[in-house]
Amino acid sequence: MSKIRILSDSLASQVAAGEVVERPAAVIRELVENSLDAGAKHVTVEVQRGGTALIRITDDGCGMDREDAMLCMERHATSKIRTKEDLAAIRTFGFRGEALPSIASVSRFRLATREREALSGTEIEIMGGKLSAVKDHGGNHGTVIEVRSLFFNVPARRKFLRTEATEYSHIEQQFRLHAIANAHAAFTLIRDGAVTFHLPGTADILERIRGLVGEELVSRLIKLPDLEHLGIRVSGYIGGPGLSRSNRQQQITFLNGRPIESASINYGLKEGFHNALMKGQYPVTFLFLEMEAQAFDINVHPAKKEVRFHDGFAVREAVARAVKQALETGSKLPTGHVPRGPVILPSSQQTEMVIPSAPSVRRPAFPERSDEPWATGAALTPSALEKNAVNEVRAPGATQAAASASLAPSPGSMRLPPPVPVSRPEVVPVDPEDEEPPAKKAMPSFRIIGVLHRLYILMESTEGLVLMDQHAAHERVNFEKMRKAMEQGGVPSQRLLMPLTLQTSPRDADVLTRNLEALGRLGIEAEPFGPNTFKVEALPTFLKTDDPLAWLDQVIEELQSLSSKSSSLRLGEDMIATTVCRHSIKANDRLSTPEIQALLEDLFACEMPYCCPHGRPTLIQMSINELERKFGRQAP
Ligand code: ADP
Ligand code: MG
Repeated sequence: MSKIRILSDSLASQVAAGEVVERPAAVIRELVENSLDAGAKHVTVEVQRGGTALIRITDDGCGMDREDAMLCMERHATSKIRTKEDLAAIRTFGFRGEALPSIASVSRFRLATREREALSGTEIEIMGGKLSAVKDHGGNHGTVIEVRSLFFNVPARRKFLRTEATEYSHIEQQFRLHAIANAHAAFTLIRDGAVTFHLPGTADILERIRGLVGEELVSRLIKLPDLEHLGIRVSGYIGGPGLSRSNRQQQITFLNGRPIESASINYGLKEGFHNALMKGQYPVTFLFLEMEAQAFDINVHPAKKEVRFHDGFAVREAVARAVKQALETGSKLPTGHVPRGPVILPSSQQTEMVIPSAPSVRRPAFPERSDEPWATGAALTPSALEKNAVNEVRAPGATQAAASASLAPSPGSMRLPPPVPVSRPEVVPVDPEDEEPPAKKAMPSFRIIGVLHRLYILMESTEGLVLMDQHAAHERVNFEKMRKAMEQGGVPSQRLLMPLTLQTSPRDADVLTRNLEALGRLGIEAEPFGPNTFKVEALPTFLKTDDPLAWLDQVIEELQSLSSKSSSLRLGEDMIATTVCRHSIKANDRLSTPEIQALLEDLFACEMPYCCPHGRPTLIQMSINELERKFGRQAP
């Protein structure tokens, strides 16, 4: 007897569903892509219980007539490609014609759709792949798709779903990707009945990013130059120096508007960031690549997440160049002028993060996935300090290795103006008068226990043990002081009784000449004094050194290493402040208790107390829970 059989359609769909829809977020990806392909201007994503109970996508796209509505539920039914030439030049998100039947085969599925001009529309219900009803539909034009009880008929797959919170965090991430890639369309996300995001359509991608991640993060982004290399166009935004993450969640890349992952791009980023990133850290990127559809193959991954580039090296090079250039110019974006209006606080944030004493503090805009362990001795987040999000620093099953990796300053660590509504940063000049004075961070109460290795201050907090890197903390404090002084007209400087004469190489003379003005604002007054010679007339008062010429040499060397990368472009003042500050602080100083106290106070008066100017953490916390687990007093 022959053994081979053709799979029934519904079984084949269930098998395909395993590839296409591995979890609720994937259903959302497919359905939102369909809505966008249908030309929707507004897409609403509604989920209940992490998408396991309900996913409802409503769009105002072209809709379908009865025939198409029936047909679209068949396997390999697509309106998007007809020939193999079409496949080579795909401009739509979908093309496999697999999503709808796959999703419908593993859920209780309802589709209601109406074309704009049509008198009535069509409603179809499918239960686990079996058509159960077809009716007329009188709703708005566009399409609504409801997916209930996902995987109800495939218990094995349902078992693989994580907690509702985790599934929801994937959904939110997916939503962000769509929203960034399609800023022209309005997007709404509703979680368990509460509006989490409501984003009006905009032509300004930065405005969209701001609506999603908040002003604080946006203020730390730098713009990539619009660059073209071998037919590959690169644009977008990246986190400036000192901004990094311990995972790739905020390393976001789009190819022709489609979120993708690619090793070539990862390499390009790594190369471009070079030493602007610490080991084990990932950059924050909103990177947009555009190229001819013939230059890559998107059809290698069922969820179309991975691509194969025909010239991976060119992609890598294009990305690396753009990043390098952006970092060298170091130009911070103009701070958006944010009118204060009603805040729509993401509902997911309401329980965990609303901090009564500082109402505008948001939780990190991209939450760590709840199934990803927080690092042991996680770097402190303000939320942790402010006790309202104790679980932020809990570390289930965390590893030591991750400890050093979780230094990313939390995006929630700043006073954030409300995320909506926002006007375009380019056209509205920032009026300093209008800016709220930075609210001083609530100083948590710490009991100082002692000093370890002359470097780490040990302290007790209500949550457990806190370690402060005295050197990193000093750097942060001095850096912010210096930057502020620089902005306000200059670091106080001391005139030298006898001007110093500084002889330099022609290369050093060049970098010095280009930065004389910025250095002047940092209290270093120097002027050209013959070829490759400078007369130094004043130095900053904070400087405590016996050999000012050697100190200046170090500063120039540092400037040189920065500027060799940036050639003719002006250095960011931040970078200069960092450089000068690095050479002005002495580590391993023995501090008295009042000095430690003062340092702590200064640190918490900083805008960004939780990391040094190079992105290393200043404070690390080990919670009591953590310690109890380590000592075996508590089950891991
Ligand atoms: P694909 O997107 O790969 O073509 P799908 O199974 O996702 O396959 O969708 C099948 C077809 O159904 C699409 O090609 C499109 O014609 C139609 N369709 C799906 N969703 C929508 C929608 N929201 N609005 C209008 N048409 C849709
Ligand atoms: Mg599709």
